[in-house]
Amino acid sequence: MGKSASKHHLQVTEIFKSIQGEGEDSGKPTTFIRLTGCNLRCSWCDTTYAYTKGKLLDIAAIVEKVKKLGCLNICLTGGEPLRQKQTTVLLAELKKLGCRITVETNGTIDISQFNYVDRFVVDYKLPSAKAEQPFYQKNLKHLRPTDELKFVIANRKDYETAKNFIENNNIKTKVIFSPRWHKRTVKAVANWIVKDSLPVRYSLQLHKVIWNGAEKK
Ligand code: SF4
Repeated sequence: MGKSASKHHLQVTEIFKSIQGEGEDSGKPTTFIRLTGCNLRCSWCDTTYAYTKGKLLDIAAIVEKVKKLGCLNICLTGGEPLRQKQTTVLLAELKKLGCRITVETNGTIDISQFNYVDRFVVDYKLPSAKAEQPFYQKNLKHLRPTDELKFVIANRKDYETAKNFIENNNIKTKVIFSPRWHKRTVKAVANWIVKDSLPVRYSLQLHKVIWNGAEKK
């Protein structure tokens, strides 16, 4: 570990091991590092507890916790994990440890400033989210084929907006349509995708299926 790791700090809500519930890595054991704070307040946010508080941890302690949990498949999430300046230091230290790193970000921040990330999962916020900040459009050109552009869909208007967006932009990455966790939406989104033969991947929040609507074990 770099000597400097203990001099750098991040505000952390929680670090835990669970099953990745969404996207290409769905079903894989994963260590989640949830950083505190978000620049958005999505209407249906299910991690409001990560907006404030948390614990100030030095990066060496975060890396130690990851070692102790024993799973180097990492998901750095939030809140919005790219808001804290020293996230760059954490990414470097996790990579030194040999981690495979996924970063889940809300789409408003320039991802091109961050190295060592194996997969970005970038959200595009749809009307139902009522996001206060727009999508950072230049991210589209930085998305690699191994990354994911994710649309969380709560209703038909969201679906149409997402569909128009992928039809009108030259998207070179994987596209994920994830329904909000509601019985009717889960079925409806699947039906709409099939009807339109849309070239996207449908992704259910598997952790909520396993743990009955909860985010984790
Ligand atoms: S970006 Fe994520 S953490 Fe932030 S308000 Fe929206 S859903 Fe919640």
